[in-house]
Amino acid sequence: MKIGAPKETYQGEARVAMTPASAKDLQKLGHDCLIETNAGMAAGFTDDAYREAGVTVVDDAQTLFAGADIVAKVRPPSDDEVKLLREGQTLISFFYPGQNEALMNAANAQGATVIAMDMVPRISRAQKMDALSSMANIAGYRAVIEAGANFGRFFTGQVTAAGKVPPAKVLVVGAGVAGLAAIGTATSLGAITYAFDVRPEVAEQVESMGAEFVFLDFEGEQTDGSSTGGYASVSSPEFTAAQLKKFREIAPDMDIVITTALIPGRDAPELWTEDMVKSMKPGSVIVDLAAERGGNCKLTVKDEKIVTDNGVTIVGYTDFPSRMATQASLLYATNIRHMMTDLTPAKDGVVNHNMDDDVIRGATATHGGEVTFPPPKPKVA
Ligand code: NAD
Repeated sequence: MKIGAPKETYQGEARVAMTPASAKDLQKLGHDCLIETNAGMAAGFTDDAYREAGVTVVDDAQTLFAGADIVAKVRPPSDDEVKLLREGQTLISFFYPGQNEALMNAANAQGATVIAMDMVPRISRAQKMDALSSMANIAGYRAVIEAGANFGRFFTGQVTAAGKVPPAKVLVVGAGVAGLAAIGTATSLGAITYAFDVRPEVAEQVESMGAEFVFLDFEGEQTDGSSTGGYASVSSPEFTAAQLKKFREIAPDMDIVITTALIPGRDAPELWTEDMVKSMKPGSVIVDLAAERGGNCKLTVKDEKIVTDNGVTIVGYTDFPSRMATQASLLYATNIRHMMTDLTPAKDGVVNHNMDDDVIRGATATHGGEVTFPPPKPKVA
């Protein structure tokens, strides 16, 4: 089969779904690879680097879509790109079918199969294809780098001839994939790092990474009782009150706050209130990784960096993986390559879209002229 990656058309998107390294691996599965000219430039991969890896470079998106059996992308397709899909063709990209119903129906009307990388089930066997986690890992790392670039002091404490420098204090709210990456980055830069999550089982992970888990003075019902399957669910009002009380206590002492708290399928919980921001020292920095879903901080402005009247910088960028386009492309392209490995079991260049496979089934949003989203729950854990 021919696998092609077009240049991303979403404004500012610098990632690419195929790298020279992933193309070599795809060829080992028996596939041929195509790339649109300059598709990798913003991520640091030249057309020549693709040519050296055996990839055919084509002039434009039309030629790419016409020549590829499988189109690999990062962002969901634009309305124009959907029109380029055709019957029997497969698109693999982030798609968010639950939020993009019209787009999904349009792709289905074209007769295309859609594999949504954001729908890969989060089971052990599928970790190598878990693009949400690879991008969250980058976002967590980059959030700390961004915080550091906006913070006027060192992270690490120093005793120098010119004076004693105290270490920065960093609080990470939400210790999922992004939060743990942020904790690892902040501690490795020498900050004193604190972390909180509604899932107490992550306390051990937080501590093993050299951070201190923030425990609440709370006894009672922690959640609203909905089933979670390992994910966070909505906190009870009493628990939220205890959480906010604790945050209010520690806010004046924190130099940097990275918020990553999310509950699947909901707007981001508001956890860092205006009065907490007001109580922080001038020069402090908040990076809100939940900005896309409304923000954990009351004052976050999506896709912007603002400075409050009391001198606190609040970063609400939502494109951290694209700001590290080389790393993000390398990991994302590898996630796609693993998906292709599962789709090409005989390594003979023939795709077997096995709908009995939990992972392939889970990620498939349209197939064979039918909308197959939402998928049934996976059978294995
Ligand atoms: P996420 O991005 O959806 O949420 C981020 C974190 O915010 C979570 O840890 C959540 O508990 C926390 N949170 C929610 N509400 C909060 C609140 N009010 N205060 C503080 N924290 C709050 O999460 P994620 O990083 O995608 O992962 C979360 C879960 O998914 C974990 O159980 C993780 O182990 C699991 N996971 C499994 C796999 C796999 O098995 N392949 C891969 C990735 C993640």
